[in-house]
Amino acid sequence: MQEPVLKCLHENHYSKQIIGVCVNSECQKIRPYCQQCLKCYLHSEHLHDLHDFTDFYNYMQEGLNTYNKMQNLAEELQSIAKLITIIINQLSFNPKINLKDISIIAINNLINKIIRVKEVEKTLKTNLELAVIPLQKIKQDFKELLQKNTEQQLIREEEPLKKTPVRSKKQKKAEKASSKGSQVVQNQQQTKQEEFKHQVVCIKPSKSKDEKKQQQQQQIIHNQGKYQFSNIYKNRAINVIQPENSAEGFGFCVCDQAISKCGTTIIAFRIIKCDWRIHIGVCDRDMLIESKYDPNLANVGHGSYLINNQGDVFSTVETEMNDKSLSFKFYNKNIITIEIDFQQQQITWIKKQPKETFTLKFDTQKELYPCVKLWGSSKVELLNPIILQ
Ligand SMILES: [Zn+2]
Ligand SMILES: [Zn+2]
Repeated sequence: MQEPVLKCLHENHYSKQIIGVCVNSECQKIRPYCQQCLKCYLHSEHLHDLHDFTDFYNYMQEGLNTYNKMQNLAEELQSIAKLITIIINQLSFNPKINLKDISIIAINNLINKIIRVKEVEKTLKTNLELAVIPLQKIKQDFKELLQKNTEQQLIREEEPLKKTPVRSKKQKKAEKASSKGSQVVQNQQQTKQEEFKHQVVCIKPSKSKDEKKQQQQQQIIHNQGKYQFSNIYKNRAINVIQPENSAEGFGFCVCDQAISKCGTTIIAFRIIKCDWRIHIGVCDRDMLIESKYDPNLANVGHGSYLINNQGDVFSTVETEMNDKSLSFKFYNKNIITIEIDFQQQQITWIKKQPKETFTLKFDTQKELYPCVKLWGSSKVELLNPIILQ
């Protein structure tokens, strides 16, 4: 796996390369550490919380999974609240009516409503009572978490930047002397930091307008999850090769990780060998499983959004786009990047040199997974992480 090239910010660590991160929840030190940090016992009290970059990606993925679960819960609760509100409005009645003044028709309607209300009681009684206790517990837990986050100022990503020690003359000289090389490193460092910011933003409770604004800005920052071709979700004739993270053979191969519904996600595929056809894109994994990884791509409703090396387009929702030659062609050694933007509800495929792009709208209700469909003995590699330019 490609590892980021970051230099330690501590003075006297002589810009040693960062070799891992500390994920201890109490730690107040800068989390990325170098060899020298270890020698200085900076994280010596919690060595078991030090992760190399492979572990770190898994750690991020775990965080992302929890975040997604929380998002699903919020959506579920909102949809329940919506339904209940509709029923409450349907059945609203005024208990203070004077029975002397009321018409027969009005009494009739009132009784009908009360009967419907009692119907709710009959149908839901047990479940309503059962649901209240865990819901109250969940509410309490979230309140406490919110409190904790506010107190501890969860977002500490700017701290290391502010606390950057005054650089020594030696270091300044070294920086001056180094040319483009260090610029690249710096850019990568920035990208990594921004990436990390994004992860933090996802779990940040939004409160003030300023924070919301900031969050919106942050959301534009690109998401680069750790995606892996799955050994489970694929055609039998597909061979997944790890750790190089490539898929080879015949049929569909889906990733293990779903695409985040927050911000923009970028995924890059390298065409190692194009034998006849390679399709690249995203899919609804459940639908693909239902079709036993052999959907009819000629009809809509196949559950995927793909383009292939011949420029053919496959959209599960758009009849006028599906199975039409509307996109660009690609070849061996090309890198095809896809950008998935849930807010805009669109997927864009990008090929550089010559730059060509193609965009499709997608249905945001479904959970989407990166995937490829290969013919013959084609081979594609997933690039993780992608260094943005
Ligand atoms: Zn260090
Ligand atoms: Zn630590």
